[in-house]
Amino acid sequence: MFYAMKANSANPLLRALAPVVAGFEVSSGGELAKARAVGAELAVIFGGPAKTGAELAEAITMRVRRFHVESALELHRLSAAAQAAGEVVDVLLRVNLSGPFPPSTLAMAGQPTQFGIDEHSLPAAVGHARRLPGLRLAGFHLHSLSNNLSARAHLDLLELYRDKVLGWEREFGIRCEVLNVGGGIGVNYAEPAAPFDFSAFALCLAPLVDTFPAHWREVDFECGRFLVAECGRYAVRVLDVKRNHGADYVLVRGGTHHFRLPVSWQHSHPFTVLPVDEWPAELPRPEVRDTRVSVVGELCTPKDVLASGVPVDRVRAGDVLMFSHAGAYGWEISHHDFLSHPHPEHWFLRNGAWRRDDP
Ligand SMILES: *Cc1c(COP(=O)(O)O)cnc(C)c1O
Repeated sequence: MFYAMKANSANPLLRALAPVVAGFEVSSGGELAKARAVGAELAVIFGGPAKTGAELAEAITMRVRRFHVESALELHRLSAAAQAAGEVVDVLLRVNLSGPFPPSTLAMAGQPTQFGIDEHSLPAAVGHARRLPGLRLAGFHLHSLSNNLSARAHLDLLELYRDKVLGWEREFGIRCEVLNVGGGIGVNYAEPAAPFDFSAFALCLAPLVDTFPAHWREVDFECGRFLVAECGRYAVRVLDVKRNHGADYVLVRGGTHHFRLPVSWQHSHPFTVLPVDEWPAELPRPEVRDTRVSVVGELCTPKDVLASGVPVDRVRAGDVLMFSHAGAYGWEISHHDFLSHPHPEHWFLRNGAWRRDDP
C-alpha cells in the first residue's frame, strides 16, 4: 500500500504515514521534494499525466527508480533522462483499458480521458519500453476509478485487471513483475456510517491474489482518499445566518478557498453544529431552527457552497460548524488565494498533543 500524496501532503501527516506504508506515490517535483523531506530512502514511485524532461531527470537524481509512464513520447523522455544519468529505471505502463467490462465495473474504465495509454496503442508502447536503453519494463499500472464504495466492484475490477495483464503477457511474450492497481477506494460522504467494507475486501483479496502468477512479485495499491479522509476536520465559525428568497443560508468564515472538496465532488459535505454560547450583547444574533440550510463561504461567487439543503436543528451566528472527513482533497485541492482571505490555521494531533504547523 503506497500513499498517493496528492490527497494531502502535509508534512506531519507524511511523517505519520511513512512507517506504515510501502512508500509514497508522487506526481510532481514538488511532491517529490516533500516526500524526500520526510525520508531520504523512502520508496517513491512517480506518476502523473504530463511530466517534463527536467522533472524526470530530477526524479532520477532523487533516487526514484520506478515511473508510471503515460505515453510513447514520455517513454522516450524518460529513457533519455535515465541514460544521461547512467541509470536504467523501471517503468510501469499506465493503460486506459478498453471494454467490455463486468457489469459492476462499467462506469470505471474505458472512457476517453487524458490519462494513460489507450489499450489499442499498447503494442507500440510495449515495443518502446522494451527497446529503449534507459528503461526496463516492470509491469502495468491500472488506476481507473475514483471514490468507489463497493468492495465487490473493487474485487471485480482486480479480477478484470488480472485477466487483462495475463492476456498481455501472452500477447507480447513478456513477464509482468509489478502490477499497480491504483487507488480509488472510496469514502462515503453521504452516509459515513456505511463505509467501503475494507474487512470484506481484504478477506476476499487474499484468495484472489492467490490466483495471480507467482512471478507478479508485487501488487501495489496507491490510495489517497481512503487512507486520510477521516483523519482531518475543517472547523469554521458561522459569521451570519439569513433568509433570501425563501431559502436559509449559513455564511461561514471560510469556504471553498480552504475546502473545495464539496464543489469538486458536487456534494453536500457532512458537518455537525458546535453551539457556542458567547455572543456580544449589543448585536442581534440571527438563528434558524428545524429547517434546511445551505452552508456557503465568504467568497464573492455563488459557487462557494459547502453544503446545500441540509437539515439542521439549530444554527446561530457565532456557532462553529465541524466538517468531518476533510483529510483528503480538502486544503490540497483548493484555490487558496482567491479573494486573498487569510489561510486557515492547521493543527495536528500527535501523541495526544496539539501542534500548529504549516501544511
Ligand atoms: C489520484 C490518484 C490516486 C489516488 O486516488 P484516491 O482516489 O485518492 O485513492 C492514485 N493513483 C493515481 C494515478 C492518481 O491519479
